[in-house]
Amino acid sequence: MAATPEQRREQLVDVFREARNCERCALSRSRTQVVFGAGNADADLMFVGEAPGAEEDRQGLPFVGRSGALLTAMLGDVGIARKDVFIANTLKCRPPANRDPAGSEIETCRPWLNEQIRLIEPRVVATLGNFATKLLTGDQTGITRVHGRPQVRELGGRRVFLLPLFHPAAALRASATADLLAADLATLPQLLQRPLPGAEA
Ligand code: SF4
Repeated sequence: MAATPEQRREQLVDVFREARNCERCALSRSRTQVVFGAGNADADLMFVGEAPGAEEDRQGLPFVGRSGALLTAMLGDVGIARKDVFIANTLKCRPPANRDPAGSEIETCRPWLNEQIRLIEPRVVATLGNFATKLLTGDQTGITRVHGRPQVRELGGRRVFLLPLFHPAAALRASATADLLAADLATLPQLLQRPLPGAEA
């Protein structure tokens, strides 16, 4: 029998408790704390960024800086409240001095994200920026070519729409990118209603 949303939420809390003590890779020695992710444990929409930055590492929450504020505002513009989505990163611990994560660190951390997707059961996973998009699509095509076009993918054992988006940090740097991100976010309400080919309802 399928787990109820309440059972899945409790299981997600168990995964969080386990993850916050994770020492599977070297980033456990330099982080302040694990940034597991935050939001609605039964969200239809999940955002996945790259890795925690300095402020996220301090607060233990994802997207709490200016990028996060912009994302929250832009979501509000299309009628989506941040509390209704779940936001996580591909990597749960901050790489020192924001260096690029090593391939082995990404690989070692991936099961946590898979577990999150499996338990939250989103219909849409929106990847923020090049790094998360390339990792979750398994395709090296750059974000400028793939943004805004949903792809059907298997993630965490589930079929989902993966929607590549520009990272809000890039939108902060260039107003043209902000316009593209806003236009792509505006497609979300419709995408959330679209039937997933071959998926359970
Ligand atoms: S980055 Fe991931 S795998 Fe590495 S210690 Fe943190 S939670 Fe564990």
